[in-house]
Amino acid sequence: MPIDATQPYDDENIFAKILRGEIPSTKVYEDEWAYAFEDINPQAAIHTLVIPKGKYVSWDDFSTTASDAEIAGFVRAVGKVARDKGLVEPGYRLLANLGQHGGQEVPHLHVHIFGGESLGRMIA
Ligand code: C5P
Repeated sequence: MPIDATQPYDDENIFAKILRGEIPSTKVYEDEWAYAFEDINPQAAIHTLVIPKGKYVSWDDFSTTASDAEIAGFVRAVGKVARDKGLVEPGYRLLANLGQHGGQEVPHLHVHIFGGESLGRMIA
């Protein structure tokens, strides 16, 4: 079920639990600002999620309230994960779903990285 992205941050959401190490994930990368792990239900040959370590429900929340350092750190982490996976050539797709119409299901901001195959023009 898609979430209402205007809700307050829920400390018990599944990605908060992953960040705290309370439930397992296949870690790909971690730094001061971000944590990346493999999507449990991959929609492409490579499907990795990158989440900020801060408590942000959505891209809207993050882009309006995060510090410049958090935003820069997170954006650079997304780029690094994709680059380290060798995706820059031949390319990849980034996606951040937001709220009901965006189909966002987990109320902690996450950027999907899709790659490893030709993705065509479909919207994931
Ligand atoms: O953008 P959206 O909120 O729909 O994406 C949530 C993503 O989180 C899904 O792709 C789902 O497979 C993934 N997920 C995960 N591990 C979990 C729960 C959800 O990788 N434990």
